Amino acid sequence: MAKSFEYGVIGCGLIGSAAAKYLANGGASVAAVGPQIQPSHSYSTLFNSHDDQTRIYRTLDDDGQWANWARASVERYSLIEAESGISFATKADCLIIRDTPRSFDRMDTIARKNRTEHRALDEGEIRHLLDGVAHETVHSLEARIETKLAGILNPRRLLEAQQLLAKRYGATFIDAIATEIEFGAGGVEVVTSVGKFRFRKVVSCTGLYSAFSHIMPPAKTLGRTMTFFEVSQSSLDRFRLRHPVIFQAKGFDVYIVPPTLHPNNKYYLKIGGDPNDYELQSSSDVADWFRSAGRPVVSEFHQNALRIVFPAFQLTPAWTKPCAVSQTVSGRPYLGSGLINNTWGFTGCSGSAAKGSDEIGRHAASIITQDNAR
Ligand SMILES: Cc1cc2nc3c(=O)[nH]c(=O)nc-3n(C[C@H](O)[C@H](O)[C@H](O)COP(=O)(O)OP(=O)(O)OC[C@H]3O[C@@H](n4cnc5c(N)ncnc54)[C@H](O)[C@@H]3O)c2cc1C
Repeated sequence: MAKSFEYGVIGCGLIGSAAAKYLANGGASVAAVGPQIQPSHSYSTLFNSHDDQTRIYRTLDDDGQWANWARASVERYSLIEAESGISFATKADCLIIRDTPRSFDRMDTIARKNRTEHRALDEGEIRHLLDGVAHETVHSLEARIETKLAGILNPRRLLEAQQLLAKRYGATFIDAIATEIEFGAGGVEVVTSVGKFRFRKVVSCTGLYSAFSHIMPPAKTLGRTMTFFEVSQSSLDRFRLRHPVIFQAKGFDVYIVPPTLHPNNKYYLKIGGDPNDYELQSSSDVADWFRSAGRPVVSEFHQNALRIVFPAFQLTPAWTKPCAVSQTVSGRPYLGSGLINNTWGFTGCSGSAAKGSDEIGRHAASIITQDNAR
């Protein structure tokens, strides 16, 4: 006989774990189904978007929805850290640089409405922070810097904190993969690699797999490549840039995470942003992709971008890493009802959902507890 819970969460990533936490804190019986924290991609059969040391967080955004989710979450980071005893966020100003045809108007309007603490930088300040960026590049640039709710978070530690709190509130975590989901007389039946479970309602938070889940509206899964550059101790002292940077200039749109200490006690600068899309069509494409080193052409693009942004530094790539994101047809995130009765879910993270994952998870929990329409 299938074990029953009131609410089920499929996917124990950043959003699923946050949703499980909020559902369990509301006093309901909750089980979250998904592979637990994995030590290395090479042993996995299912992959995720959070297996890394750094994610940029900020609340400045061109899209009000992302801005609101990020703001609500970032404002709770210190509470989550205090309650879990796990620190995951390091405050740092976040710099967004654009060439002049690409406007900041939408971002400025949203920032004014949200009273986001930020300011515009002039050319001299951009040049000072980037420490030698090619003159002709700086000449036409504009920038905004977010000074309060911004920085770098460690997504693995955020996940640990959310799961620890979810378990403390009574959530059960089932280390398994969901293979079938069906709505029937007894509720939503979920078949997993360790048996069947029955739920009154289910929320699907399967991240980059949301496109293949048959629960969520259509989305694409896009492979992304990141390149890591080792920064030696002597270069580190010369490196003036301590901020995450989003650089959207002619010919490239990249983000740069400044040198960060990794578990091997070395500092690595990370750069991401793909020059074009690389679509993954199936779960087996995803598995092949995560077992690869990403696309060499993207790493070359990253090296060129760094040569323009930091001409004074000769940085050699240490390694590249694949990752993947889901994207809806409209490009906007979707959090709402699923295509099977009594299911809801989130899709379309577009590579932006780590910072706002606590609030997205909270909303996911509140829509399944409040939406009695079906
Ligand atoms: C290269 C890269 C850089 C990024 N940079 C940033 C950034 O700087 N700032 C930012 O805010 N965001 C960033 N993101 C996005 C962020 O990491 C994702 O939006 C976030 O991890 C999404 O969380 P999630 O819970 O939806 O998905 P995930 O964290 O991927 O979790 C989904 C989980 O579902 C599980 N799952 C899938 N299918 C099943 C199934 N059938 N049964 C059980 N479990 C299942 C998976 O195992 C996984 O654990 C980046 C993403 C990438 C790829």
